[in-house]
Amino acid sequence: MVNAHPPSANADSHPIRKILVVGGGTAGWITAGVLASRYPRRGEEGISITLIESSQQPPIGVGEGTWPTMRATLKQIGVTETDFLRECDASFKQGSQFVGWMDGSHSDAYYHPFTLPVGYEERNLAPYWLEDPRGQSFADSMCFQTGPCSHGLAPKMITTPEFTGLANYAYHLDAGKFGPFLRQHCIDKLGVDHLYDEIVRVEAKEGGDISHVVTKSGETLAADLFIDCSGFSALLIGKHFGVPFLSKKDVLFIDKAWAVQIPYRVEDAAIASVTRATAQSAGWVWDIGLTTRRGVGYVFSSGHMSEDGALEELKSYLGAGGDLSPDLSFRKIDINSGYRQEFWTRNCVAVGLSAGFLEPLEASAIVMIELSAKSIANLLPSCRGGMLEAARLFNDTYRYRWERIVDFLKLHYALSRRSDSRFWIDNRTRESIPDSLSNCLEFWRDHCPWHEDFSHREEVFSAASYQYILYGMGFQTRPAPWLLNDTDRNLAREKMNATALHAKALAASLPGNRELLSKVRQYGLQKI
Ligand SMILES: Cc1cc2nc3c(=O)[nH]c(=O)nc-3n(C[C@H](O)[C@H](O)[C@H](O)COP(=O)(O)OP(=O)(O)OC[C@H]3O[C@@H](n4cnc5c(N)ncnc54)[C@H](O)[C@@H]3O)c2cc1C
Repeated sequence: MVNAHPPSANADSHPIRKILVVGGGTAGWITAGVLASRYPRRGEEGISITLIESSQQPPIGVGEGTWPTMRATLKQIGVTETDFLRECDASFKQGSQFVGWMDGSHSDAYYHPFTLPVGYEERNLAPYWLEDPRGQSFADSMCFQTGPCSHGLAPKMITTPEFTGLANYAYHLDAGKFGPFLRQHCIDKLGVDHLYDEIVRVEAKEGGDISHVVTKSGETLAADLFIDCSGFSALLIGKHFGVPFLSKKDVLFIDKAWAVQIPYRVEDAAIASVTRATAQSAGWVWDIGLTTRRGVGYVFSSGHMSEDGALEELKSYLGAGGDLSPDLSFRKIDINSGYRQEFWTRNCVAVGLSAGFLEPLEASAIVMIELSAKSIANLLPSCRGGMLEAARLFNDTYRYRWERIVDFLKLHYALSRRSDSRFWIDNRTRESIPDSLSNCLEFWRDHCPWHEDFSHREEVFSAASYQYILYGMGFQTRPAPWLLNDTDRNLAREKMNATALHAKALAASLPGNRELLSKVRQYGLQKI
């Protein structure tokens, strides 16, 4: 790694005026959009943002599941929800459904919805569900959203204003269309400069900062801050700075994917409002519904199954749904599970796949891009001198966030009782489960997850998400009636009754996902 002397006093007062974003995939365009909307261009006065991407190296083209944070991100960047839905073939996503993760039996399925459990804003009512589940799953009892999820409904009506909903929601989007959509907006409306060229050399200043990059066509691009969104090639953070990559393969075994696009058999086919994750013998299959097609793929561990074996298993999944046809084109993707030892080094920050990737379970990659872009915007110092502290803060936060994501993803495997293949058995070995997760699981035997269980205020996965996964997968927290009280017990009953009624009312009034999306195409949503 290039390690260098601290910049001189002169360098310290050098203003941060030029930002170069390297890479035009989802990470590059979200980051450029967030920064450009936060620091609007003011001629010679403001900050200039340039994005360079290589036309020879297309973006990865997968990554279709998002989080509700995307609504705020799009709003901040200044696009309308109607344009986004129409141009990115996007649909509404209300959570995830995990099929076959517990024991692989016929009825093995549960939801992780986006709406918080009832009462969550004030109290932890999970212990009262545990005391008396009334024959219902945790998610069904504590969240009205499982109703709309299981019926493929939209989270809103055509009259509900843009970016607001009757239930918390995110999107499924066409990754191949999202980048170009943001590109157009960033160039036309936010003043981002753009060029297609390939970086072939990175030049450093005395002291170690990057001074400029040189492109294939011979251009020299200088900047004060470089944002590495170059995907798995990690051009700046990896190849130039040599920041070590911390592999997590010993915890999360997934290292390959087969991806395929499935056309709908009929034009007005229903569109699922969840990402469906179906367990297989060496990983799991994702199934995402867009307006024009489905995106399906098998992420698997090559240590547990050959590429050919995984392809056959994916084909069986498709065949079972009547979706296997000879003209499907399957694409193989290698996944290196892990993240960088640091993300911001000297005058360079890595965002997106260059910073790390684990696996797409719970779609945590794009949300990390959104969070990183906002953190960079919030921490951006006026001069180079402030960058050292900005980098320290950023690295501390994101190291913690990546570690927490590893734990949360591993939780899904650690709780499984499947023993039908080595993949599932190996996933439960003591040495593959991080101590941080083992300690929590031990604690949660005697305590329902709650905010104070985590050390940071803004957790990527809140206690609510842990509750949905733990109790969805049949985890047992020991009953402790001496810790319960009648006031909260009555409140829990009231809320659970109201949840059931609310779910029924929504099922009767919400349009189907497809129905609303067709209306959006025709009429558009009401602007805010
Ligand atoms: C199988 C799979 C499924 C996934 N599913 C999800 C999901 O459901 N939800 C989710 O949140 N995330 C998901 N992800 C992750 C998601 O795809 C990525 O986080 C997201 O697409 C961001 O990618 P990126 O922009 O960092 O990189 P890329 O899309 O790879 O873009 C890299 C860019 O860098 C440019 N570049 C590279 N080298 C150079 C050079 N020398 N000069 C100039 N430009 C260069 C390229 O031209 C390209 O524009 C998934 C990932 C995989 C592998």
